[in-house]
Amino acid sequence: MKTHVDINWSELGFSYIKTDFRYVSLWQDGKWDKGRLTEDNTITISDGSTALHYGQQCFEGLKAYRTVNGKTVLFRVDRNAKRLNMSCRRLLMPGIPEEKFIDACLKVVRANERWIPPHRMGTLYIRPYVIGIGDNIGVKPASSYMFGVFCLPVGPYFKGGMKPVNFIISDYDRAAPFGTGAVKAGGNYAASLYPHKLAVDGGFTDCIYLDPMTHTKIEEVGAANFFGITGDQALVTPKSDSILPSITKQSIMYLAGNYLGKRVEERDVYADRLDEFKEAGACGTAAVITPIGGIEYNGKMHFFDYHEEVGPMTKALYDLLTGIQFGEEPAPDNWILEV
Ligand SMILES: *Cc1c(COP(=O)(O)O)cnc(C)c1O
Repeated sequence: MKTHVDINWSELGFSYIKTDFRYVSLWQDGKWDKGRLTEDNTITISDGSTALHYGQQCFEGLKAYRTVNGKTVLFRVDRNAKRLNMSCRRLLMPGIPEEKFIDACLKVVRANERWIPPHRMGTLYIRPYVIGIGDNIGVKPASSYMFGVFCLPVGPYFKGGMKPVNFIISDYDRAAPFGTGAVKAGGNYAASLYPHKLAVDGGFTDCIYLDPMTHTKIEEVGAANFFGITGDQALVTPKSDSILPSITKQSIMYLAGNYLGKRVEERDVYADRLDEFKEAGACGTAAVITPIGGIEYNGKMHFFDYHEEVGPMTKALYDLLTGIQFGEEPAPDNWILEV
């Protein structure tokens, strides 16, 4: 096998590529089997599977990075393991022991070594998921489950690199006030497809969701979290029980406070008070840190001070975060796991 696949790394986007191996494990008779690698990217399940009818499924997303020294590392994989288990609990699915989750990710990355993009030419995106399977028709939890992990090389999620992009605030919600917004359940994303299409048709990169209870506060930027930077360079990010707790967001909060010595606030962000920010951005594993140039709300476009070029704090956070992920900057303890 060749040591590297024939891919023009600089043209990588965020689309499905079938890599060599994926991992599957089954929950039957009350326990997980030991799991195995397979080359088959199709799965055969009962047409009554709860994942298909009642959305009993959840997923994760993380990346493997090729460091400046040629090593491969995972970023805060234990956090993804814990979050997947939170999702499983909310959806009455059996959790995945943390060691099993990490082991599955390591196995998949090692088996697809030749698909890992060279240093800073992209990343290997890892997609773990849990689905309810087996014969069923009633609205109730499944009796069998499948845990799978696959991976593919990716480039930027929002095209445009570090050029600020524009968003529009949606009238729709992705989640209910006490629903499943805080877990990575597929249903949230099914609900987001239509508002996303409206935003793109209107010339925007994606839509921004307000809090489902009062429709006054910013919650999510598509499938990424929101942050704003004030005039004194404080990092402000919304707090709400219906936001998906982004590991990227928790990481930049830590870096802004502990590495850059800035104030960090997790609190309400009102959609009609965007003038409190000089810079804004979206953050997540796929989005990394994407600068937001402007936001349309109630028919009016609000531009941040830095809307032509990325702002200094957004750039500093991007450099620091990706520097740590690509092994160029020292990482806080336990953030990096060598593959
Ligand atoms: C996955 C996701 C994020 C980003 O979380 P990370 O852990 O940073 O990847 C943010 N918002 C939504 C809705 C998500 O699904």
